[in-house]
Amino acid sequence: MKLVKLLANLGYGSRKEVQRMIRDGLVTDGDGTTLAVKSPVPDEVRVAGEPLDPPAPLFIVLNKPVGYTCSTDDLGETVYDLLPPRYEFRNPILSSVGRLDKDTSGMLLMTDDGKLLHKISHPKNACGKTYHALLDRPLKGTERATFRAGTLMLESENKPLLPAELEVLGEKEVRITLHEGRYHQVRRMFAAVGNHVTDLKRVAIGGFTLPEDLAEGDWRPVTDAERDAIF
Ligand code: URA
Repeated sequence: MKLVKLLANLGYGSRKEVQRMIRDGLVTDGDGTTLAVKSPVPDEVRVAGEPLDPPAPLFIVLNKPVGYTCSTDDLGETVYDLLPPRYEFRNPILSSVGRLDKDTSGMLLMTDDGKLLHKISHPKNACGKTYHALLDRPLKGTERATFRAGTLMLESENKPLLPAELEVLGEKEVRITLHEGRYHQVRRMFAAVGNHVTDLKRVAIGGFTLPEDLAEGDWRPVTDAERDAIF
């Protein structure tokens, strides 16, 4: 790949902006020798003395706080505000594996690897997504069977939900595992049984649990072992 395209794909700027950066002498090899627009790409490239951002494929886990959306075009705060500045502008795009709504916190996986995204999202791979939820009202006791039956129909939909597993942790506290990702699904499921979710956090995807040492707002690359645990 040519130098200009490499830098543009990593989000350093448009091709024109990157050409200007190169002409301004901001782009060097690892020894500090200035590169030209047409220079072959050396093993190590630095921009303003800093090592280049990691190339695709990226696969990261982020602990999303409440108040951030997963969208790139939201005017408010987005999860991209929690990542290095250029990550929003990379090509291929870094996107969320199953979005979380603005009021939901917890585990968000993001990747620019289209195949991986497809694999995790595909129902055939049955990567359960597990949430911890606090409820406004005590459980009635029938919710577990209702969610398990695979017959629950959400308002304005025409296909019943797949069976979901409910673990009761307290009279107003549950863990719930879904095998699909419909819009605001957990909140709408509890609304359908006459309750209201007051706090929602995704805690696991497949067998990969949100790392305890990952503080809210922090992110890091997914390790190979964590990736294997997903499926
Ligand atoms: N269910 C919801 O209601 N919200 C989410 O963000 C994810 C699942």
